[in-house]
Amino acid sequence: MSISPKYIEVVFNTPVSGSFTYLTTDSESGNESTDNSIVGSRVIAPFGKRSLTGFVISESYDKPDEKFKIKAITRVIDKKSLFGKAEIDLALWVSSMYFCSLGEALSSMLPGGRRDSRTPVFDTEGPVSIVPRTLSEEQIAAVNAITTSGRKLLYLYGITGSGKTEVFLQSAEKVISSGGSVIYLVPEISLTHQLTAQVRSRFEDRVAVLHSALTPSQRLVEWQRIRSGDAVFIIGARSAVFAPAVNLGLIIIDEEHEGSYKSGRAPRYHARQVAMKRASLVSARLVMGSATPSVEAYQLMEEGRIQRLNLTRRLSGGGVPVNRIIDMKGSTGPLSRELIEEMKITHNQGKQTILFLNRRGFSYFFHCRSCGWDMECKHCSVSMTYHKDRNRMVCHYCGAVSLPVTVCPSCNSMDVGYSGFGTELVEDEVKKFFPNLRVERIDSDSVKKKGSLAKTLKDFHDRKIDILLGTQMVAKGLNFPGVRLVGIILADSGLHLPDFRAGERTFSLITQVSGRAGRYTPDGLVLIQTFDPGNPAISMAAVNKQEEYYRNEIRKRRMLGFPPFSRLFRLVFRGINEKRVIDYAERVYISLDQWNLERVEILGPAECPIKKISRNYRYQILIRTNNFNAAHDAVDHLKKIASASDVYMEIDVDPVSLL
Ligand code: ADP
Ligand code: ZN
Ligand code: ZN
Repeated sequence: MSISPKYIEVVFNTPVSGSFTYLTTDSESGNESTDNSIVGSRVIAPFGKRSLTGFVISESYDKPDEKFKIKAITRVIDKKSLFGKAEIDLALWVSSMYFCSLGEALSSMLPGGRRDSRTPVFDTEGPVSIVPRTLSEEQIAAVNAITTSGRKLLYLYGITGSGKTEVFLQSAEKVISSGGSVIYLVPEISLTHQLTAQVRSRFEDRVAVLHSALTPSQRLVEWQRIRSGDAVFIIGARSAVFAPAVNLGLIIIDEEHEGSYKSGRAPRYHARQVAMKRASLVSARLVMGSATPSVEAYQLMEEGRIQRLNLTRRLSGGGVPVNRIIDMKGSTGPLSRELIEEMKITHNQGKQTILFLNRRGFSYFFHCRSCGWDMECKHCSVSMTYHKDRNRMVCHYCGAVSLPVTVCPSCNSMDVGYSGFGTELVEDEVKKFFPNLRVERIDSDSVKKKGSLAKTLKDFHDRKIDILLGTQMVAKGLNFPGVRLVGIILADSGLHLPDFRAGERTFSLITQVSGRAGRYTPDGLVLIQTFDPGNPAISMAAVNKQEEYYRNEIRKRRMLGFPPFSRLFRLVFRGINEKRVIDYAERVYISLDQWNLERVEILGPAECPIKKISRNYRYQILIRTNNFNAAHDAVDHLKKIASASDVYMEIDVDPVSLL
């Protein structure tokens, strides 16, 4: 080992761009690589008065041209490096695409190790099919295309329950047996217990599961198993797209339409976009799948830029369920007569019901019937939600809790009460109508309290529960043979949000939730309750006219110039002092406007639909463009010159939420 000085470039997980030079020697590093390289390892180094963890991105024995005294690092953390050149290249792309420093990009690539993860991880109970099945003709064609097609971007567009998973698993098997590795992305790992169990039983110790409940040290162990090539089937949520897979042959994105593939904090990357980049960098294949592709993906299929593969039939004995729309106009409670009737029939047949409502809590809001005052969170501009079991008002944005009021603070009227409803109220109603049935609710409140989502789902599977009620958690990936009826309590709950994707999301949610009915029997029934039965997002989902819905939506987007017919940048300005936020947003607007860029439209500044969150005022500028590079350069330049001590500017490239 050499003791001659070695100069390394280190980047830190801070917004500061650029790297810093430090000094080390090979004997100091104690690393296990044969060439003594510590590129891709973490180090602890003095930074100003602090000591920070950073990533080594390059090294050299030649003394760099540096005016300042070069400091020595404190120590090397990793005996084996975490990132290879391919991962560092990908991080460079992420940092320039999503406007963050290389250090921020690299640290976002390590899967998050939140210890207090809110959704518990499943134990491995429940139904697992171990033997690979005989595939249908459509499935065989799909596997062949995914593994051998000259095209490397593919989409498995198959109705719910059409056996997409089996296609993915058998494709993965082929890739692995020819020496490649596979990354399988799922929207949320804690909700994919059935899949994970299947994967483990087929690929055994060659599997790495990257989930958020791993401790940091468990996470590193998994990471190194991947990097050494021991684990070749990697399954995980969004950040698994960065896993250091060796000889990556295939990336699978299951449920491509899911919003959780977009990161909610900087760097605000979209796993779909990173996957496309990564696949092209290393010549891997990429296959996405869903019963409800995003409008963007649909358009790419239409243009022939993604090869479309179809699965049109349910394979396990199920038929496509019958959908019925129920107009709720004039009704008072959350359960229509028809729904109650069908729940009875379902029970009498010895079958089960799933009820879905995208809103937790007891009531939607608490308001005054005399003057219309409604109780908003003090820190956010959103209504508080009443939670009856705790007798508290809760803000779903910042978590603030307060007592419900009995007298209107604005007009002193005592005529105050609930309006709207959430899962908690529906649970009460259901129990009133069906006192003898076993009813369980799953949403993030109930899961926190009982700490056992897994148990509830297992009980439902074992038919110890008759009616399962919940939020999105019941919409995703669950396969229960006993389910005949699915009731969507209020299909339009997300429809009127000020976001051009509100319709698309409603459509996809209805289709996905409906897909839980009749997966194994031909008598599946879906009742869709709504106040807006004529809305295409609802009516077309109900009659299974997916393709018509997409064409309709695409026509609208084209007319309005929204994605996929343009690209968006969203700049959100936030701070405690509203006037300073507005001033700053306006200054930014003016400098953007001055550049007079062609085919770049600057909208705003305007209040965000949710104007205040956690005491911070929020204003936004939207940039809409057909000239992505010019707009990107402008924002990049802006980021370098803009600064305000008390206003934070958030940059979101291709935002998926505009709230
Ligand atoms: P999707 O992911 O498309 O919603 P799944 O992959 O969950 O659908 O498959 C639905 C059901 O069909 C599962 O129970 C699965 O085991 C079963 N299945 C898949 N392929 C076949 C096949 N070739 N023959 C019989 N059953 C199958
Ligand atoms: Zn009042
Ligand atoms: Zn709040």
